[in-house]
Amino acid sequence: MVSLVLVSHSRRLAEGAAELARGMGGPDVRIETAGGLEAPEAVGTDAALVLAAIERAWSEDGVLVLMDLGSAILSAEMALDMLPQERRAKVRLCAAPFVEGAVAAAVTARLGAPLDQVAAEAAGGLQPKLTHLGEAPGVAAPASSAPLDRAVARTLRLIVRNAHGLHARPAARFVQTASSFDADVRVANLTAGRGPVSARSLNAVATLGVGKGDEIEVLAVGPDADRVLAALRELAERGFDEEFEPELGAESAAPATAPPGALAGIPASPGIALGPARRFHPPQLEVPSARATDPEGELRALERALAAAAADIEAQRAAVAGRVGASRAGIFDAHLLFLRDEGILEPVRRRIREEGVTAAAAWRAAVEEAAASWEALPDPYQRARAADLRSVGLRVLAHLLGVPVPAPRLEEEGILLAPDLAPADAAGLDPARALGVATASGGPTSHAAILARSLGIPAVVGLGERVLEIAEGTPLALDADVGLLHVAPPPELVRELEARRRARAEAEAAARAEARAPARTRDGIEIEVAANIGAPQEIPAALAAGCDGVGLLRTEFLFLGRATMPSEEEQTAAYREIARALEGRPLVIRALDVGADKPLPYLAQPPEPNPFLGVRGLRLGLARPEVLRTQLRAILRVAAEHRVRVMFPMVTTLEELRAAREHLRAAVEELGRPIPEALEVGIMVEVPAAALLAHALAPEVDFLSVGTNDLTQYALAADRGNERVAALSDALHPAVLRLVAATCEAGAAHGRWVGVCGEVAGDPLATPVLLGLGVRELSMNPPAIPAVKRAVRATDLGRARELAARALELPTAAAVRDLLATELGDRP
Ligand code: PEP
Ligand code: MG
Repeated sequence: MVSLVLVSHSRRLAEGAAELARGMGGPDVRIETAGGLEAPEAVGTDAALVLAAIERAWSEDGVLVLMDLGSAILSAEMALDMLPQERRAKVRLCAAPFVEGAVAAAVTARLGAPLDQVAAEAAGGLQPKLTHLGEAPGVAAPASSAPLDRAVARTLRLIVRNAHGLHARPAARFVQTASSFDADVRVANLTAGRGPVSARSLNAVATLGVGKGDEIEVLAVGPDADRVLAALRELAERGFDEEFEPELGAESAAPATAPPGALAGIPASPGIALGPARRFHPPQLEVPSARATDPEGELRALERALAAAAADIEAQRAAVAGRVGASRAGIFDAHLLFLRDEGILEPVRRRIREEGVTAAAAWRAAVEEAAASWEALPDPYQRARAADLRSVGLRVLAHLLGVPVPAPRLEEEGILLAPDLAPADAAGLDPARALGVATASGGPTSHAAILARSLGIPAVVGLGERVLEIAEGTPLALDADVGLLHVAPPPELVRELEARRRARAEAEAAARAEARAPARTRDGIEIEVAANIGAPQEIPAALAAGCDGVGLLRTEFLFLGRATMPSEEEQTAAYREIARALEGRPLVIRALDVGADKPLPYLAQPPEPNPFLGVRGLRLGLARPEVLRTQLRAILRVAAEHRVRVMFPMVTTLEELRAAREHLRAAVEELGRPIPEALEVGIMVEVPAAALLAHALAPEVDFLSVGTNDLTQYALAADRGNERVAALSDALHPAVLRLVAATCEAGAAHGRWVGVCGEVAGDPLATPVLLGLGVRELSMNPPAIPAVKRAVRATDLGRARELAARALELPTAAAVRDLLATELGDRP
């Protein structure tokens, strides 16, 4: 069998093309790559590497060499010259397009074709693309415009059974399947009398407005006409690969059972909110009105912006898939298809060529037109896709204009509906507008949920995609205490919830009135009840709630939503502002904890299959010492003036702790001043290994703070951002409590204090068991402080120790919760 060698300036490009070609040709075809230079990331070509690749690929049937451009060709020629004479005749350098040629060659080689034929197929590799784009000589207009000859067309009629018809994801699957055969495919909505349109355009297919129960007709002409129809029939029978989605009001997969007219999800931030449904609106970007003088240059800029936007979306897709599974990340496929949609791209290119406008102006106009046609559809779910298109459009526009993609905004007061919230979006929420938050996915200890709690915004997560169907402005009542979202609630329910909301506000005000005093247990032990914050703006609310200090400053929120890393000066200023506002109360500054669900665009990392088990937290800091060191210097500068504690996140091993301390020592040296005497150094215990080896870590730190959010996710193997395992992820599970107990024992043995800064610290039900285990500091979202201080004052430590001992012996989280509820009931 003929084998292939792919020569590229870039190792990744060569390997990517080989992967594609193998995917098409199958594993039997031998494909070797010679990409880049010896150094892993270096770009270039090297004849010696090409020669080695030809030798690895050697086949008596012949070797076909494909090259990208420029020196790749020269290097391949040199490699050919270096081959022994008798071998040279069996090696062919081929001028085929790199990717398409490799794919065509792999498919042909697999059929056992001779070298000439493989080379000829490779050379013709562009043909399908040219035909598709209508640019091949003698080929008719693009598939979307020429009418199909019904007399020769094969046809298929289908009733679409999906709950939302052919909305974004099923439409994307439809387009992908229809495009993967050698056939011209059209589709019409017979029920609505729309179409036929090209099945290669997501926009065209989706704007047919195919709803549940609609009949569609698919027409196909070409060699694969029968196969494409069979594949589309199968796809329809599989429900267009959509997950089963329960009907509104039917039994839900979410934990609470929804009464009619409500959706059930997972309570993520307590409280009640009443208001209209609202969505994020992508902000506008100013497009300069200048005319374009170089249409070809504009077209190239468009291609670059589309590629950059596609790379962003792929990265988001990978991050979401890592957290909630590939099927939930499928919405990104639809977003990617917008970028390849000829229904949008063709008018953009035409405007650039014919009207002399810039790519940015042409793109914005085409996206607006397409979004307006989505908005004209009768189905509210499909209308809502206009927002998706606009947000993808904004991303491309930002790349065209060379500016960062602006964050979405909530323009009017109401309850925010969103698929999920990125931590950066949640951080930008304004409680005056966002009365509540309701998301389709996400878990209660996801960072977005934590932020909502800190801001005192009631939130319910994991409501399912149904929540996205609710039309803007629909009256809603969010009961985040039980996890229900009532859609268009009747007046009596509104009255009842309004009364509960008022009673809750009054109780909170009463708890706040006594919250400023220190919290002492009944037997007189003072417990530090501190706040978890992410930005200086949160300090006033934390002080008003009665915090005794800040037990966790999540510094990463100062780093999110920006295009570049904050400098040492900026960081120093932010930490100083917080420390000053605390007026002598302690401030625990956590070293940067990014990675996993908090990626930083300017700290790009290669995609990881399991980001939560990858390079995150301290691991990232140790991998990027310049980042860690800059931050440590900023912390040390503030520690010279204020009561600051420094804390390292995600410590797993003693070696990591020692390496982090070494960086701290080096940062002191760089500053040229002695380490401030009062500076306490601590670690977060959020990996089971750290809890189990706390006796080895404790002697080398001043304190240990248990991060139960991560500790629970790792101990119970339950992703904290995945609503489907939210019920498992209970920090009161005895397995987690045993890890907390091990940490407290080690702390006590070495005279180190132990705190808890995971979300469970803010749950008054958990207060006695945590204190009974030996925890002496609790740090939480500020609104929880008054109630937890009350719970501390009601706790007797002797009784709490007995309670904790009993909890450790219980077999389930439910049993622990029952025990604690009884304890609460028994309180005087
Ligand atoms: C934790 O994991 O419990 C914690 C407090 O850290 P974060 O929630 O920021 O990961
Ligand atoms: Mg954590």
